[in-house]
Amino acid sequence: MSADVIVLGAGMVGTCTALQLARRGHSVALVDRRAPGSETSYGNAGIIQREAVEPYAFPREWSAVFDVAFKRGMDVNYHLSALPEVLPRLARYWHASAPARYAPIAQAYSRLIAHCLTEHEVLMAESGADDLARKEGYRFVFRTSAAMEEAATRATRLAADYGVRHTLQGGDELAKAEPGLRQRMAGALHWLDPWSVSDPGALVARYAQRFEALGGQLVEGDAASLRAAGSGWEVRTSTGPITARHAVVALGPWADALIAPLGYRLPLFVKRGYHRHYRGGPGLQLPMLDAERGLVLAPMAQGVRITTGAEFARIGAPGTPVQLAKAEAAARELIDLPDPVEAQPWMGNRPCTADMKPVIGPAPNHAGLWFNFGHAHQGFTLGPASGRLMADMIEGATPFVDPAPYSASRF
Ligand SMILES: Cc1cc2nc3c(=O)[nH]c(=O)nc-3n(C[C@H](O)[C@H](O)[C@H](O)COP(=O)(O)OP(=O)(O)OC[C@H]3O[C@@H](n4cnc5c(N)ncnc54)[C@H](O)[C@@H]3O)c2cc1C
Repeated sequence: MSADVIVLGAGMVGTCTALQLARRGHSVALVDRRAPGSETSYGNAGIIQREAVEPYAFPREWSAVFDVAFKRGMDVNYHLSALPEVLPRLARYWHASAPARYAPIAQAYSRLIAHCLTEHEVLMAESGADDLARKEGYRFVFRTSAAMEEAATRATRLAADYGVRHTLQGGDELAKAEPGLRQRMAGALHWLDPWSVSDPGALVARYAQRFEALGGQLVEGDAASLRAAGSGWEVRTSTGPITARHAVVALGPWADALIAPLGYRLPLFVKRGYHRHYRGGPGLQLPMLDAERGLVLAPMAQGVRITTGAEFARIGAPGTPVQLAKAEAAARELIDLPDPVEAQPWMGNRPCTADMKPVIGPAPNHAGLWFNFGHAHQGFTLGPASGRLMADMIEGATPFVDPAPYSASRF
């Protein structure tokens, strides 16, 4: 079998890359060992984060760094066994987060985020997936006025700098908007632009169905079998070998496992997150970040999904859901969550880079090999825009966003 392009990895990023190419008439094989949207793109909080114009920086205040080191907060945890590998990369992350270096990173990031809604909108409409999206924003809720004021100041700056919209809601207004809240909060910052998805894995599956309807081949295979063949690439699949002139690595947290043996030493690492669903309570109208505790509660088809912050652990290391236990206790202060759905929490890995930007572009030393990974906290948001940019570059068309900041050569 042959195709124009092999896309390795059918998460949100790979599926959108394959779909964007198929929409332009290219023959594409989308290869995964599992069904589309079964991994990280299944387990996230489902928010299409138009407000996330600035990527998640490493805290610079020493008090926050000590909180992490001594595991004082619930937003960060780590395994000692992961530290030898991850610490040098975290040092680069910390370095990139210094204000002077962070400013251009945020500028570049915001230029891709700016297209997240419009690109999802097109794909959702074509895929018949509008029923999965709620287009009413995302709330940060606050227990104290001081925290709310600080967030409001930042939101005002983001509105001026990037045009992202918000309103502030007092405690009474929030209680009316979210009648399930058990305690009176100081208030909320309601980001008006973001969308939320009631079943993130299902959205990827719909995009994959649309890809197949356009003639794309969805095949089961192991990306590790990729090898150079003739003037292109070959991968072994359950339906036999597939060759193509181009291959795209869209393996999210597993990208490093494929590219390191090819000689690429990029500063990649993962931030593990956990989730669990709860049924039976009053539920929520919109997703909310409990800003002072660092957990997100999102209304999903399966119930209210609680997602946790970052844990530094090796991919595949046994789960240590201590953050989820704390997050569940904090969430229960906010709403009634009677029945956990899963016996064991889900866990997955945000694919991160040391400078917080994804890697989108050609592999520097291999013709016809392309990278599209490292979308960290916003891969669900960025899949369609990132896929479009990849398609522009593979076609040799003028890229719709300047791709220079995302080049693998920057490291
Ligand atoms: C708790 C949590 C909450 C989050 N919340 C949000 C949010 O609200 N909004 C947002 O935008 N982002 C969010 N994210 C981040 C987002 O989920 C990720 O950035 C995104 O899912 C990454 O997508 P991906 O396609 O790169 O990776 P994945 O979805 O992990 O896809 C990679 C694919 O590669 C396949 N694969 C791996 N190895 C092989 C192999 N050897 N052979 C074949 N196939 C292979 C896997 O099976 C998988 O399907 C969150 C993440 C977490 C963990």
